[in-house]
Amino acid sequence: MLRTGIVVDTRYQEHYTGRNHPERAARIGMLLALAEEYQRPGILRLEPRPATPEEIALIHDPAHHDRVAATAEKNYFAFDADTPVSAQSYATALLATGGLLTLIEAIMTREVDNGFALVRPPGHHAERNRAMGFCLFNSVAIGAQYLREKFGLTRILVMDWDLHHGNGTQQSFYADPGVLYVSTHQYPYYPGTGAAEEAGQGQGEGYTVNLPIPAGWGDGEYQELFQGVVDPICRQFDPQFVLISAGFDAHVRDPLGGMEVTEEGFGAMARTLLRIAGDHAQGRCAAILEGGYDLTGLQQSARRVLDEMGGELLAAPLPQPERRGLLPRVREVQRRHWELPKE
Ligand SMILES: [Zn+2]
Repeated sequence: MLRTGIVVDTRYQEHYTGRNHPERAARIGMLLALAEEYQRPGILRLEPRPATPEEIALIHDPAHHDRVAATAEKNYFAFDADTPVSAQSYATALLATGGLLTLIEAIMTREVDNGFALVRPPGHHAERNRAMGFCLFNSVAIGAQYLREKFGLTRILVMDWDLHHGNGTQQSFYADPGVLYVSTHQYPYYPGTGAAEEAGQGQGEGYTVNLPIPAGWGDGEYQELFQGVVDPICRQFDPQFVLISAGFDAHVRDPLGGMEVTEEGFGAMARTLLRIAGDHAQGRCAAILEGGYDLTGLQQSARRVLDEMGGELLAAPLPQPERRGLLPRVREVQRRHWELPKE
């Protein structure tokens, strides 16, 4: 059994978004309950530390940090219609980013092999100078940069399977060949970015891989894309660390999304990425929670990912994809940069 770190903390409930907001404290309640009852050899609970302002500045303009910090003096503020904050939100956001950094440190020092930071608020929409889409600080982007600056790694994979395109993460590394950003997302949909043609620029050309997916696709279609596009590209990139922006809002029960992925589908995606981590990155893989607004779907999907992280399932066969040749435009764009299997 592999050793898996779980970061979750009651303090993640303190960011208050209002009575009817989908990104709510109850999400963490479900994940605390999961962490309490989830037992297998090798599970280690890790206590998150807050990120420092200097760590936030690995990705964000210091002025952005200061704007978020200033909301700690207000009972209510809204960065946009989707992104309200309370007095505790700044501290919670620091702890969310710091939760991932805590996990990364535990993986890099071999205290654990892999792990899952079950945190809120989410982060992948946050841009260098802008909080948006429930997100204040872009934790996964900060994590990728932290791995480079603190640990000297040069090739980081960020796989983002959240329902939504991670515009902030893409922006952070768009001209940067050191971070491969791969995203599956419902399209067209919020936030509007993530077309197949967005594939990086300058030195970073080819290092952004967007798979825009029409509503209604489920486990079989995702599996075909993972095996036919995601897996070969990630292996050619040869990552030294695998980060997963693990949102569960593509779950069939989710109220925000139009996708039909089940917890089994998320398990298969995790297995593919954990195999890549095992073959290329000494098994180093850290997932961080992004979206996921159906409480049952969220808890069951997180549990399946934790099951996969145990390593016992890694040798099990993946579901057979149908090979229908989905997303031909993605293949056409990405063939300029990577070798892809024939249909
Ligand atoms: Zn989302």
